[in-house]
Amino acid sequence: MPKKEEEKGFVDVVNGRYKPRGVFHIPEANQPIFNKDTGKLAGIINPRDMTYMHSYGGEAPFFENLSKGKLMATRCDNDKCEAEGSVFIPFRIYCPDCLRKATIIDMTKTAKDTAIIHSFIITHRSGAFNSLKIPIKFINIEFDTVVTILMSYLSVGEPEIGKRVIPIFRTKNPTYTITDLSFVIEGTMESELPEGFTF
Ligand SMILES: [Zn+2]
Repeated sequence: MPKKEEEKGFVDVVNGRYKPRGVFHIPEANQPIFNKDTGKLAGIINPRDMTYMHSYGGEAPFFENLSKGKLMATRCDNDKCEAEGSVFIPFRIYCPDCLRKATIIDMTKTAKDTAIIHSFIITHRSGAFNSLKIPIKFINIEFDTVVTILMSYLSVGEPEIGKRVIPIFRTKNPTYTITDLSFVIEGTMESELPEGFTF
């Protein structure tokens, strides 16, 4: 059941500090579990409603930019690092080779021009709280100049290894989660995109 305003938790950052307000834990009455064969008590179920506060920290620019139709990556610019110039997406705050802070770069154009499917998995059964349409077409994506592989999901078209794909972004009512980024097969029309998404 959707929660009323007074049953929700909210968080702002004020003066550099997290300021929670509202309700973050809602307990409900528990229920016994009885063994139908013996009539004996076997345990209880304990319904609890919890609102989880997830701080993005240094990854916040990645999620914020998805809502603006931009894919951000990071790059090691340390001239003493053997991996200097390596571009990382998934977004890595620190270079895994030299542990220095990496530089945030906009790789939207690289993604639009060079993304191809490296491998894929089609999932017919999902875990709890899944918000994606089933079957989910998970794709692993390669980009030119990028040293890592990105996992995402294909919203339009059928996956095939080596196929060109184009990123799309949930720019209307973004969720600020990784599902705001998706991909479609090259040649997909704007009118075919899922609700809320743009190129
Ligand atoms: Zn480095």
